[in-house]
Amino acid sequence: MSLLAALSGLILGSFFNVLIWRLPRGESIVAPPSHCTSCGRKIKPWENIPVLSYILLGGKCAGCKEKISIIYPLIELFTAAASVALWFLFIKNTFTGTVSFSLSTAVLVQALFLLMMIPMSVIDIRHYIIPDLLSVTMIIAGLAVSFLPGSTTPIQSIIGILGGGGILYLIGWLGTVIFKKGEAMGGGDIKLMAAAGALFGIEISLMGIIFGALLGSVAGIGMMCFKKLSADHRIPFGPYLGAGIWIAVLAGRTIVDAYLSFVERIAAPF
Ligand SMILES: [Zn+2]
Repeated sequence: MSLLAALSGLILGSFFNVLIWRLPRGESIVAPPSHCTSCGRKIKPWENIPVLSYILLGGKCAGCKEKISIIYPLIELFTAAASVALWFLFIKNTFTGTVSFSLSTAVLVQALFLLMMIPMSVIDIRHYIIPDLLSVTMIIAGLAVSFLPGSTTPIQSIIGILGGGGILYLIGWLGTVIFKKGEAMGGGDIKLMAAAGALFGIEISLMGIIFGALLGSVAGIGMMCFKKLSADHRIPFGPYLGAGIWIAVLAGRTIVDAYLSFVERIAAPF
């Protein structure tokens, strides 16, 4: 099964590459078929095998010999690795014993959303946007899946959408009021956390925001120290939120419990 997870991860990663290139450019993701972005040459099926084709072609287009970015096979490998990790840490437990169709569907959609954090992050870093096709589609998918018994209920899903998106909207609004700067929080970030809320409920979405904000602050301070980045440099928040959601889903409960018992121990003498 972990081999199956790796293989589907490679194929999914190859599809993510299409999303990463086409979504920010407003191109259709189904037509025209894959082509070289430099000479327009149609890519033959054997040139479209994840990772392997890149190695066989020596990282060059078979037509114009233009170099193909190493990013693409790396995204395929990374998606495969993330899929295997999700199989062991997230999906496997659900698939032991009797597997109900509705629960397994819900878990697979949740896993797909977690994997979508990969193309979302790359697009946000390159273009400072999170396409609606990634966020809004997942809000709708989360709400649809909530009607299947086994995962979050429709009410939990709606509260998750309003809570996850709403809190981030509020933080952004406070940010503009306090720092008197233009839009601090992008609409894409808000829709992303609404999607996390739709799929996992409000608790995970809020934890995701907190973990994401912590990661973002640490990275931001680090960058300001070492690269002398100016304080008003634009930092895409999506990748930190994406990582925050992963941490919240896989370890959120454990971290919160550990934190609470730590606070309890410190507060005990008083
Ligand atoms: Zn070419």
